[in-house]
Order: sequence, then C-alpha cells, then structure tokens
Amino acid sequence: MRDDNCIFCKIAAGEIPSSTLYEDDMFRVILDLGPANPGHALILPKEHFKDVTELDEKYAAKILPLAAKIGTAQRKALGADGFNVVQNNGTAAGQTVFHFHVHIIPRYDSEAPMVAWNPGKYAEGEMEQTAEKIRKEI
Ligand code: AMP
Ligand code: ZN
Repeated sequence: MRDDNCIFCKIAAGEIPSSTLYEDDMFRVILDLGPANPGHALILPKEHFKDVTELDEKYAAKILPLAAKIGTAQRKALGADGFNVVQNNGTAAGQTVFHFHVHIIPRYDSEAPMVAWNPGKYAEGEMEQTAEKIRKEI
C-alpha cells in the first residue's frame, strides 16, 4: 500500500530523487537532508506504514539487521565510533514525517550524547503502579 500524499512513499519508489545508500525490493535507505551528523541515514520501507504500530512483521524482522549493516558501513566509511538507531512515533516523540522510518546516525567519541535524558525518580509505589497499568494493556 502507498499514500499518494506521502513524500517518503514517493522517495522510496524513486519518484523523488534522493541520495540512496542501499535499495532492495522492500526498503530504500537514503541520506537525511538535515543530518544530525554527515552520513545520517534513513531506512524507508517501500510500503506506507504511519508508524511502528502499523509496521508489518515481515518488514519489522528485517529492520534491525539492515540498521546494523548501515551502521557498520558508517563506521568503516566515516570512521564513526558508534551509531544511534532512533525511531520516533507521534508528534510528541518528534515524528515529523508520518511514514515509518528509522534514523541511523554516525557518532564520535569526541561528541556529547545526542540521545540523552536526565534520569528521573519514582515516588514510593509509583514504579509498580505504572508497571501494572502498562501490563494490563499488553
Ligand atoms: P522524524 O522527525 O523522525 O519524522 O524524521 C524525519 C526526518 O526526515 C528528518 O530528520 C528530516 O530531516 C528528514 N527529511 C524530511 N524530508 C526529507 C527528504 N525529502 N529527504 C531526506 N530527508 C528528509
Ligand atoms: Zn508513505
């Protein structure tokens, strides 16, 4: 399935030019136009899924091995010391293009972490209450 109004559907299908790093029958991997670091890549499925909650399992099974392949290539080609695998779901999480995609961002020892948070604390009993709420919905 595709969405005719979706820019990533058009890029994945090759209808809009992109800097393509890799392509097979299910995925196109491109360079992000606004990179966190040079070489920042996006894995795009060729089918339209809004986010990870819609992603077909046959695509899901291939995403992490493909992310590992791209990250390994970034290490070798760019001398990256590591890489972040980032995937945003919903506006609150920073998603701006609503066609499922995975960011692979080359990272260097000399940089501050990009994906970081200040560790919080639970009040007494809050951790177990939170766990129970989530467990009920799984
Ligand atoms: P997200 O915030 O996870 O939805 O990420 C969307 C990403 O797509 C951003 O990092 C944008 O820089 C990138 N992006 C948007 N349009 C294009 C495009 N035409 N080609 C390449 N990258 C794009
Ligand atoms: Zn799409």
